[in-house]
Order: sequence, then C-alpha cells, then structure tokens
Amino acid sequence: MILILIPDTRPDSPEYKQLLAHLANLPGISSRVHTEVGIEHTLTEVYLIGNTKALSIEEIGSLPCVERVVRVSEEYRVLGRHKNDDRPANFDYNGVRFGQDTLNVFAGLCAVDTLEHVEMMMKALSEHGQVCTRMGAYKPRTSPYSFQGHGRSCLPYVFDIAGKYGIKVIAMEITHESHLEEIHDALFQTGNSTGVMLQIGTRNTQNFELLKNVGRQQDFPVLIKRGFGITLDESLNAAEYLASEGNHKVIFGLRGMKTNMGDPHRNFVDFAHVPVVKRLTRMPVCIDPSHSVGIRAQSPDDIPDIMHVTAQGIIAGANMVLVDFHPVPNKALVDGPQAMLIKELPYFLEDIQIAREAYQQRAALAKRYQQV
Ligand code: PEP
Ligand code: MN
Repeated sequence: MILILIPDTRPDSPEYKQLLAHLANLPGISSRVHTEVGIEHTLTEVYLIGNTKALSIEEIGSLPCVERVVRVSEEYRVLGRHKNDDRPANFDYNGVRFGQDTLNVFAGLCAVDTLEHVEMMMKALSEHGQVCTRMGAYKPRTSPYSFQGHGRSCLPYVFDIAGKYGIKVIAMEITHESHLEEIHDALFQTGNSTGVMLQIGTRNTQNFELLKNVGRQQDFPVLIKRGFGITLDESLNAAEYLASEGNHKVIFGLRGMKTNMGDPHRNFVDFAHVPVVKRLTRMPVCIDPSHSVGIRAQSPDDIPDIMHVTAQGIIAGANMVLVDFHPVPNKALVDGPQAMLIKELPYFLEDIQIAREAYQQRAALAKRYQQV
C-alpha cells in the first residue's frame, strides 16, 4: 500500500509525526518513507509493507497528511501501474524530461576511444539540437583481452566537452559501485557541466548488489537494460530493485534477446515489448537498435536494419533511443560494425521524426475510436 502525502508535508510537523506514530503501531506492518525534492514541491510517499490486506483504504486515507492511498499488487510495487494509480510516469533530470509521453535520443560512442572522437560526436549532436548522448567509459567485454574502456581517466575530458556543447545528459554504463564515486568526483572537478544517466548493462541486470548500491543513490537516474537471457518479468523485478532502494528515476531498456533465432542480427529484436512495459509499469521505455541488430546491413529499400527497428520501436511508443555512432567505425575499439556514421545523424533524426509523428497519429486515432 502506498500513501501519497499532501505535497510539501513537513517532516517536523505534528501531523506528520502523528501519522508515523499511528503507522508504527499497526501490527505486522513496516513503513518506508520516500521523499522526492522537486523544483516546486517536495513529494512524500510512504510505503507500507506486510499484511496490508487487513487495512481499509478509507481508514488509512483519513489519517493526517494523507492525500491518497493506492493499494498495490505484489508485482513491481514501486514502479508498477496499479488500480487507481495516477502517480506520474515521468521525471526531470538536469533540465530534461523523461517520461512515457516523451522521446529522447541518446546517439553517441559505444566506447570512448579518443578525445577527438568525443569532440566530433558532441559537436555534431549540438549542431542538430541534441542534448543527450551515450559515452561508454566502463565496458563489460566478453573477452578479458578486449579493450575494457578508459575508465575514470577519460571522464574529465568527456564532461568538459559535454559542457562546451550543451550536452545535458550522458548515458554511461557502470559495472561496479566504485564507478559511482569516480563519476561524482569527475563531475565535481569539471564544475558539473553536464549530467549522467547511469546504465546497468544486460550482463548486470541481475547483479543485485550493484542494483542495490545504484538504487540507494538519487543523484543520477538509471537506465536498466533487459537481461538478454531472462524473462521480461525477471528484468522488471530487477528494475524494481533500484526503486525499492529509493531511486525512482528508472528507465527500462530493450536491447534484444540472445538466441540464434535472430540471425543474422546480433540479438532477436524485442521491441514488441515497448507497449507491454508501458502498461505494466510507469517507466519510460528505451530501445537500443544497435546492440539488438548489431550489423550495418540494409534492405533493398536502402534503409539500414538499425533504422528499420528504431522506427518500429518508436511507432510502438518508445521513449528513448540509445544508439551507437562513430566518426570512423572501422577504427572503433568496441562495436564498430554496428555504428552509424556521424554524417548520417541528420538522416537518422529525420527518420525518427517520421516514426514519432506516426506514433502520435496512431495514439490520437486510438483515442478517437475509444470515444465511439
Ligand atoms: C552498451 O550499451 O554499451 C552495452 C554494452 O549494452 P548491453 O548491456 O545491452 O549489451
Ligand atoms: Mn556496445
């Protein structure tokens, strides 16, 4: 059960203390408070855990400071959509809105290799009105002998260049909790000139200790990728680990499933699950066409497979696109074969716009027919 308190309820007010005292006396129930400090309001939610079936919504709803009560199902308690649940499906980070109604493109380098390539990428992004990118510093690689990313050493120039080109959010995978501090330090040293969205990669979707550590901080939002060999339910539960620890700014990423049934693509594209995740949870949904398709092949219509699946995800309502670009893919240290060329960025963005408009028309059409 979730108690949504009246906005700006003060933790030192007598009513709030009375509420917590009442909850503490409920047998077999424990409570956990989550506070979200926004620009205009501070919102507080109290999660009741235990035998909440015995509680009456009316009674709990009449307690001091309580605005609304939502009874949650067992599934995805924090991030899920529940009956009569009108909690928002969006959040803001560093001036950028992420939600189930918005679309953000994160085009960038799979792995940071040189300062020059970072600059070329970010310059192109800013020339095309983009404020988000992807930049891998910590790379989980199948072989221990492959390039593992530059790690902390590249962070200062990545953040500096981002500041120079007005990039507000960089998606960056972390593979260990110590990377949190490294990112924090580098951001601080570079005057917080940009922001970071932490990425939990598909290989770490069920690294529960990492999830708990990342969930305990609320400075950075998190993009969690679906595990490539586990069920959707298992991956959504992994996302819930982040939220249950306190971080509700979570985006769910589809990146294809590992099976040779997807050949010749690197993974089997799973973007049919975009609407499924949107109805089961309040998370914005990201698609990663690069890691799902994995090759730069194109069909007789001249459209690369990566762009076909991007459009498929967007026309189904995806909210974020994470995509690999590189100035010279054959020199890329990681995933060159799936990188789009920087000169293709305007083409890619224009194609996205077509798919997005088609999605918006489809959503309007659905509304119209709903009213009939
Ligand atoms: C990535 O986005 O760089 C990446 C490694 O993705 P995934 O975890 O989906 O393989
Ligand atoms: Mn990659």
